[in-house]
Amino acid sequence: MSIKDNIFNTRQTLPDSCKLVVVTKTQPLEKIMEAYHAGHRQFGENKVQELDQKHDALPNDIEWHLIGHLQTNKVKYIAPFVNLIHSVDSLKLLQEINKQAMKLNRVIDCLLQVHIAKEESKFGLSFDELHTLVSSTDWSSLNNVRVTGLMGMATFTDDAQLIRDEFRSLKSAFDHLKLKSLPANLQMIELSMGMSNDYKIAAEEGSTLVRVGSAIFGQRG
Ligand SMILES: *Cc1c(COP(=O)(O)O)cnc(C)c1O
Repeated sequence: MSIKDNIFNTRQTLPDSCKLVVVTKTQPLEKIMEAYHAGHRQFGENKVQELDQKHDALPNDIEWHLIGHLQTNKVKYIAPFVNLIHSVDSLKLLQEINKQAMKLNRVIDCLLQVHIAKEESKFGLSFDELHTLVSSTDWSSLNNVRVTGLMGMATFTDDAQLIRDEFRSLKSAFDHLKLKSLPANLQMIELSMGMSNDYKIAAEEGSTLVRVGSAIFGQRG
């Protein structure tokens, strides 16, 4: 199967409400261009340096998503062009994104990453920290960021029920926040959940953005 077929087939399994972010980390430019020529424009990278280099080397109508952990001192490298940062997990990081975006006179869209997996190694806010961040932040001081939703990664496991329960817990926090009256720069629109091994479950549980790499390019070397 070609990259083009894989993108087509992946899209086919998703409802219209769910968009596909093709994860290009570790992939060479030629393979990314295959996806580009198949008409795809939303790509995700997990490392700042790789994202920056690929952004420089590839066509400028690509929508770049940062999906991996972001250190505050690296925000400046991606601030000029990043389309959506999926992995905001502290107020300090949000403030730095706001600061860099202000210098560039732009507004950067972000998602708050929530830790929903059993594994300890994954980044993200706990549900308590999410609640605190949402309710005790002075959102009016963050005019150059717009939080548009939440992101989460399920446990890497064959236990489909565990994965489903973890996605459900995030969807429930998302729905709960959506019912509140939120500031203009904090909205619950996008729910980023689902990777190659679990995107079908994620779509069933209300994901609006799946991040799929190896199911499209094959296993990373
Ligand atoms: C690598 C990665 C993905 C995609 O993983 P695949 O299993 O290759 O689909 C999705 N989200 C994040 C945050 C990643 O780092």
